[in-house]
Formats: sequence, structure tokens, C-alpha cells
Amino acid sequence: MIDTHCHIDFEEFDHDREDVINRAREVLEAVVDSGTSYESNQSVLDISKKNPDFIYPSFGFHPVASHTKTSEEIKQAQNFLINKLDEFVAIGEVGMDYYYITDKSLRDKQQEIFTSFVEIANEYKKTLLIHGRDCEKKVLNIIKEYDNIPYVIFHCYSGSLKTARKIMEYDNYYMSFSTMVCYSKQHQELVKNIPLEHILTETDSPYLALSREERNEPAFVMRGARKIAELKEINLKEIDEITSNNGKKVFNI
Ligand SMILES: [Zn+2]
Repeated sequence: MIDTHCHIDFEEFDHDREDVINRAREVLEAVVDSGTSYESNQSVLDISKKNPDFIYPSFGFHPVASHTKTSEEIKQAQNFLINKLDEFVAIGEVGMDYYYITDKSLRDKQQEIFTSFVEIANEYKKTLLIHGRDCEKKVLNIIKEYDNIPYVIFHCYSGSLKTARKIMEYDNYYMSFSTMVCYSKQHQELVKNIPLEHILTETDSPYLALSREERNEPAFVMRGARKIAELKEINLKEIDEITSNNGKKVFNI
């Protein structure tokens, strides 16, 4: 099993990061740790270097904060990414969030920044990991214009089934489902209708735990996988095999 999206560099794990990683090693084959900012991308690289062949770094520029960055900061992040491209397994999470960002001009700026990263993924043929919230169709319409992106992942996809079906028309587009699938009726409906060949597992930890008090962690990806097995009426071993192979393929690990 693979946790294809989490944030073990976050301060929520500062006091017991080693224990969290050890628990993940007991049940998982690999973990993809996604950066969110300039500093976070550095930490993600450091953590992955300490845990070779287990924790893989993804370069992120989180959409919820992207519009607050100056053009120098954006340029700095882009240069950092291009210089260290070989060290990262994907570009993301990058994207657009219409849930938190409601102002039209800020949304335009967010889209412009997102597009700049999509162009890098296209130019350098790098897997793109997308955070798209309440604007899934718009995100799809942007990325489908780019033919050289090897794989696209809609992380924690929460859009409609109709848009999901459009996304599934592309063989190289995937959706990752988090532990939210354990309690969200919408996610359960999506999982039932999306072929396993397009599904990845993730936690988005420390977020999206089963209760507000709890901190999520990579090992808990098993909870979501068990629910996917139940919803699809397929045994857990097969879910594990197929989603792990999907993960290895999209991140080239
Ligand atoms: Zn995330």
C-alpha cells in the first residue's frame, strides 16, 4: 500500500516524526510527502533523504496561499523546482481552491500561478499532483490542453461524478482517495463508480482524520483502503496490489 499524499514535514509531527515513519514502514511500501511552500519543500527533501526508498518528495506550492506570494517568491519557487526537478517525484500539490478563495481577482491570480506550474510539468514531462477544490471542471479544462504531462493526479477529488467521468476518459489521469472515504457518502459514491485502475490511496495527514480530535498519519491509509475494498466488493489484497502498482507507475518509484 502507498500513501500517495501527506505532509509529514508539518509541525504536527515535530515531536514524534520518527515513530510516525516507523509505524508507516510496518504497513506501507512507500509514502509521498508533498511540500506546500518554499520552506516546506526544503523539509520534504531533507526527510526523504533520511528515508531513502521509502519517503518520496513532491514539490508543492499550495493554492490556498499562492495568491499571497510576491512575484519574486513565485519566481524563486519555480527556479528551486527546476533546479531540483530530478529529486522530486512530482509537481504538486499545486492547483486552485474556490472554497477558500472567493474573490474573482484572487482566483485569477491563483489560476495564473497554477498554470505556470502546469507548464513546467508539461515542458519537463513531470507528474502533476493537483489540489482542485470546488473548481474541478475548470482545472480539467486547463490541464487537458497540455499533452506532455505523463500523469495527472486529482488529489482528494471531491467534484461531481459527471466531471469524474470526463477525467476518466484520459488513461493517464488518476484520483486519490483519502481516509475521508470512510465517512463521506459523496466519496463512497465516487469510489463505487471509478475504475480501480484510476484509483490511488492517500491520507492528506495530518488532516482528514476520522474525528476532529485525532491526528491523521500515513499508516492510516489502510483504513481508507479497507473501505474501498468493502465498497467495491473486492478483497483488500487486490485493492493493495492494483493501487500500489498505480502509485509506482505515476511516481516512477
Ligand atoms: Zn495536502
